[in-house]
Amino acid sequence: MELIVATGNRGKLKEIKAVLDGLNVSVQSVTETFPDFDPEETGETFLDNAVLKALAAFERVGKGVVADDSGLCVVGLGLEPGVRSARYAGDDADDDQRMDFLLHKMEDMNGQDRVAWFACRLVAILPLKGADLIEGVEFVEVPGLGDPFVAVTTEGRLMGRIGHEKRGEHGFGYDPVFLPDPFPGVSLAEVPLADKNKVSHRGVAFRRFREFLESTRLP
Ligand code: IMP
Repeated sequence: MELIVATGNRGKLKEIKAVLDGLNVSVQSVTETFPDFDPEETGETFLDNAVLKALAAFERVGKGVVADDSGLCVVGLGLEPGVRSARYAGDDADDDQRMDFLLHKMEDMNGQDRVAWFACRLVAILPLKGADLIEGVEFVEVPGLGDPFVAVTTEGRLMGRIGHEKRGEHGFGYDPVFLPDPFPGVSLAEVPLADKNKVSHRGVAFRRFREFLESTRLP
C-alpha cells in the first residue's frame, strides 16, 4: 500500500518513516508531488487540525494519507503554545527564536509551572472500510469520503518539564528545551532518534497506527 504523509516537516517525516519501517507500505511526503502543500491550520484542537491536514492531502492525492498535529502544552502558560506551537513567536520565527521566546516567557516560573507535555493526534484516511479497530484506534467522522475510504485516529503524549536552557542537537522543534520524564537528566535533543521514538507522543500515536495496519489485510 502507498501511504502519503501530510507534512513537509523533515524532522517529523524522519520520525514517522522510522516508526513505520519494515511494514509493507511505501511512505512518501505529499510535498514530493505537491511542494506547495501547506494548509492553514485553523482548528482549535489537535484533532481538528489533523483532520484538516489529512483531508487537504487526500483531496490532492486521492489515496491513503496520514497526518498528525502535534504541539507543546505548558502548565504555567495555560497549556500554550498548544495548537500554535509551530507559529509561536510569529510566522517568520525559526525553532531557535521560538525556544528563546518560550524561555523568556517562563523566566520566573518554577515547580509545577514548568511541567509540560508534547501531544500528538494522528488522523489517517485509508481504503479500509469494514476493517476491525484495535485498542487505541478509533474511527473519526470526516465528511465527503467515498467508498472504500474511512478515517481513523490515534493519539500519544510525552510528559516532561521545560528546562532553563537549550541543550542537544538531535530532533527538531522544542526538543532542546524539553526534559522528558522517561530520560532523567537530559533534554529530548540529547536523546538519539530511536530512543525518542520509543517514548515520544508521535512514536506512541504512530505505533498504535502501525499495529492497526498490521492487524488489517492491506490492499
Ligand atoms: P504541526 O504539528 O506541524 O502543527 O507542528 C507542531 C509544532 O510543535 C512543531 O513545529 C514543533 O514546533 C512542535 N513539536 C511537535 N512535535 C515536536 C517534537 O517531537 N519535538 C519538538 N517540537 C515538536
